[in-house]
Amino acid sequence: GETPVEKAVPQAGDPDLVLLRRIGQVDPASLDDYRAAGGYTALRRAFELGPTGVIREVLESGLVGRGGAAFPTGRKWEATARQPDHPHYLVCNADESEPGTFKDRVVMEGDPYALIEAMTIAAYATGCTRGYLYIRGEYPRATARLQHAIATARSRGLLGDDILGKGLSFDIELRRGAGAYICGEETAIFNSIEGRRGEPRSKPPFPVEKGLFGKPTVVNNVETLVNVLPILERGAQAYAAAEPKLFCVSGAVERPGVYELTFGATLRELLDMAGTTGTIRAVLLGGAAGAFVTDLDIPLTFEGTRNAGATLGSGVVLVIDDSVDLKALLLRIAAFFRHESCGQCVPCRVGTVRQEEALRRLARRVDPNRPRGDDDPDLVLLREVGQTMRDASICGLGQTAWNAVESAIDRLGVFT
Ligand code: NAD
Ligand code: SF4
Repeated sequence: GETPVEKAVPQAGDPDLVLLRRIGQVDPASLDDYRAAGGYTALRRAFELGPTGVIREVLESGLVGRGGAAFPTGRKWEATARQPDHPHYLVCNADESEPGTFKDRVVMEGDPYALIEAMTIAAYATGCTRGYLYIRGEYPRATARLQHAIATARSRGLLGDDILGKGLSFDIELRRGAGAYICGEETAIFNSIEGRRGEPRSKPPFPVEKGLFGKPTVVNNVETLVNVLPILERGAQAYAAAEPKLFCVSGAVERPGVYELTFGATLRELLDMAGTTGTIRAVLLGGAAGAFVTDLDIPLTFEGTRNAGATLGSGVVLVIDDSVDLKALLLRIAAFFRHESCGQCVPCRVGTVRQEEALRRLARRVDPNRPRGDDDPDLVLLREVGQTMRDASICGLGQTAWNAVESAIDRLGVFT
């Protein structure tokens, strides 16, 4: 019962697409199709530029991480490349688990060789000899297609020793997660690959210095990596002039799916493409870790969403119309964080439980004489717990577990 990949891309076939241009247009099993549709020109260009030239292009392009945190990719690559300690490792974070996020899945299912080519370029630029593709366990079709693509690339001299006769040695091992949201946190991935419990480590040290097996490690999200192909094919400046971004649109829309827009388009433009249904009450940007917004004219950029008190995050655009029970949605989000907390640190382990309890009490409340607004004891408790999770949690899970709830209370007046 999985949706065919081309159905998940309402724009499929549009000649202006960059990241999604091959989705639904080529046979994802065929390396020849991939090459006929422009595949492996970026790797050839990378060999012409040399490792430092590739890093320079990525820095100039302004590419920032698409997993959600928007860290400059070129800076990560540069920092790893200059580490004297070897080996260097490359980890592709394909543990796409943010609720409402499904862009990486579409890329992996519809264009698996693109990810392999992009990983090979990243490895070449940063001096990595081994790559791990850490994929969400609930993605069996993407896993099968990548496994096939890795084996085919290896058999055709595009992975392994002396790639394309250029002396590059690089190979990819695919690892499957086992269903834990926290295993998408980069240092939890290291622990998982090393055979330990999937718990985050404290940062710093950052992975670029001390990552997998204690060695310098580049960790990049799937969408981040595939952006490197158009950067090299078109050149950094041409790429930056029309930088593509994927969005995962779901909820109260006629055509849910993955959309590709150029940075700067507004939320309203995206919703017009997807066709909204009902009366729009809010849009959840950034997933469970994100925030609700009501202004549809904000630009869909990292800065624009930050200015609106939200986040672009991993590109989640969850449209809420007036038929949605917001209290039930918040309880669902709170239960999600409580369930997915790894329990390692107190603010998050206890805070996510207290948050859910307070929301339950608020949702059940019928006594009209209880204090409302800022005096409500459960709202006071929620704010205190939320701020503590944000300030004192070890990793992003605890730090963001209060975001959506806070924005729903403050902007949508859910409990007042
Ligand atoms: P982070 O800000 O700690 O780090 C972002 C990246 O930059 C990491 O790779 C980190 O190692 C690197 N980095 C940061 N400072 C550095 C420095 N000084 N030197 C070198 N490298 C540095 O964020 P994070 O905890 O890795 O990620 C949080 C984000 O993940 C959130 O935005 C959230 O939306 C997103 N997220 C995405 C998914 C998904 O399915 N795509 C799931 C959960 C969370
Ligand atoms: Fe684990 Fe939560 Fe602490 Fe992250 S913030 S380390 S998920 S307990």
